[in-house]
Amino acid sequence: MAYNPKVGDPITSLDTPSMIVDLDQMESNISKLMSQLLPTGVSIRPHLKTTKSALLARRLNTAGAKGGCVAKLSEAEVICDLGFTDLLITCEVIGAPKVRRLVELFHKYRSIRIVVDSEAGASKIDEALAASGIEEPIMTLIDLDVGLHRTGVKPGEPARKLARHVAGLKHLKLIGVQGYEGHLQHLHDREERKTLCLESMAVLTQTADAFRQDGHAIEVVTTGGTGTAEFCVSVPGVTEVQPGSFLFMDTDYRNAIGTKYSNSLTVLSTVISKQGPKAVTIDAGLKSLTTDSGLAECKKSGYRYGVLGDEHGSLMWDEGEEDLDVEDKVEMVPSHIDPTINLHDCYYAHRKGIIEEIWQVDARGKVQ
Ligand code: PLP
Ligand code: MN
Repeated sequence: MAYNPKVGDPITSLDTPSMIVDLDQMESNISKLMSQLLPTGVSIRPHLKTTKSALLARRLNTAGAKGGCVAKLSEAEVICDLGFTDLLITCEVIGAPKVRRLVELFHKYRSIRIVVDSEAGASKIDEALAASGIEEPIMTLIDLDVGLHRTGVKPGEPARKLARHVAGLKHLKLIGVQGYEGHLQHLHDREERKTLCLESMAVLTQTADAFRQDGHAIEVVTTGGTGTAEFCVSVPGVTEVQPGSFLFMDTDYRNAIGTKYSNSLTVLSTVISKQGPKAVTIDAGLKSLTTDSGLAECKKSGYRYGVLGDEHGSLMWDEGEEDLDVEDKVEMVPSHIDPTINLHDCYYAHRKGIIEEIWQVDARGKVQ
């Protein structure tokens, strides 16, 4: 008989490794974020780079969010085709193949928004849209470097010059500015995170004001992630925040910002070999848990994880902990949630150990 996990099955019946989501915890994460941020009047446009799921995008919108962000154009293609089309693509769309794909996507879904940080990048999109015969302009935000030094035009005259350029393009409509302070999300010291975030927000809102002085109608000022959204929403002029990881969290974020949001997603794994009196091998290695932000942790404290290659990991423990043996199952907490999810096909969402829903990772592998 084919392996066919179903709603109503216990999670203990799942084959492994499998991503499992504690629904009570995930829902509590959503309501905590919404109840803290929504009363400020700032829009929440959650970043779907984390979940890569149209269903979860919809669920977040039901809870009060407005639209979503994706990092990449190929994520937008998948999520739009699943019926969720109010999307901001937060990475620059650069290069002929991608610009062609953007024009095709915009043909189908006029609600797509883009960011630009160069005159050349903006002009290429303008030319492609002109050649395609679409009259309606694409909603465009200037991507501003507020300190991350990853993408974004520099504040001051370079930003104003780019805004003037974009405003002069017939097929791009300048509606706002994005400034993502990614370098601050994981700062452990909350006061330092707040202070530096407010400095970045000053750069962002002053730039928006400068654009307005130059005659541009700036409606959207978008920023923020899980570690900073609470500070961003307190700044007059910020209209939108983009948190993503709060839904599931990871150990890296928990170590930085604490346990306000729970680690609601774990990777269920099986002990497949006993390697010593206090050492076993589990079936989760580099292909199911990423290590760029440190090692995943066993949910049960007292067990230390180590990577034993693509498909294997070790768990070791000291005297006094319960012994693990072949066939035992353990839950592993990812260290970095976004790339870990991208390794899996689906989520098994459970309440108190019983599977309630099964969700696809719709945009899995969509990195273009
Ligand atoms: N906005 C942008 C542009 C991002 O790149 C990210 C994450 O990398 C986010 C928002 C969401 O941040 P987080 O997952 O930390 O909430
Ligand atoms: Mn990330």
